[in-house]
Amino acid sequence: MVKALHYIYVIGLIGILSDCSLVHTSTSGNASGASAVFPACGIDLPSAHFTFYLPPVALAEVEAPASPLFDITENFCAFDMNHVCVSDPKLFKNDKTMLIDLTRIQKENYSFPLPGAKMISSYAGRRKNHSGTDLKTFANDTIRAAFDGIVRMAKPYYAYGNVIVVRHFNGLETVYSHNSRHLIKQGEYVKAGTPIALVGRTGRATTEHLHFEVRVNGQHFNPELLFDMDTHELQSKCLVCTQGKNRITISSMDPVSTLPILLNASN
Ligand SMILES: [Zn+2]
Repeated sequence: MVKALHYIYVIGLIGILSDCSLVHTSTSGNASGASAVFPACGIDLPSAHFTFYLPPVALAEVEAPASPLFDITENFCAFDMNHVCVSDPKLFKNDKTMLIDLTRIQKENYSFPLPGAKMISSYAGRRKNHSGTDLKTFANDTIRAAFDGIVRMAKPYYAYGNVIVVRHFNGLETVYSHNSRHLIKQGEYVKAGTPIALVGRTGRATTEHLHFEVRVNGQHFNPELLFDMDTHELQSKCLVCTQGKNRITISSMDPVSTLPILLNASN
């Protein structure tokens, strides 16, 4: 019953907010007891916990985090260090939905994993079973960590050949496979752009290339939701990862359309 009332309240609140053209993107919560006035449109908001959103012009005045951060597991067990597909018990522990707003990640906090590369094979592919994106430059070119994080795994692993898995503080994991040489070890902290390996063709590979995967809680998804493979920049989107019964659904939305989800999650 309480949940139902809450739901009705949130829907109502969304109705009010969607009339306001200035409502745009998330920054911080307002949990004060008094009724609050949204500064740009003057609509009285009910006294409650809510998250309100500021327009792009106001974003400069707000201290927004450089990138979304989640509480992740940093101490790895033997299984974590020896397998590519591993979940993190801390993710989705309290919330079923995780939002990763890529527009909040500044240029210095991400790196395309293989600068100058061309995509030679896309995720899924013709046989629908390709778990990553293949990127091609030249043998022994430098592979870089996509974001800050911790090296969960760095070793040879079946068809992956020499593979590195980095667990990031933004809730994602990235996988770098077929490497000729590793430049870092398991357990090391890396920054976005840190050289971690050299391009090779170890494992099941017919040419020197980087097989790059992106995973959330062990489940891979299309790296093109994260990176534009032509410009090598992050997509101007918000990733919405929702834990279902058997799998996680990952969708890519404009930050403004995630407002209802954020409002719901903030209560
Ligand atoms: Zn591949």
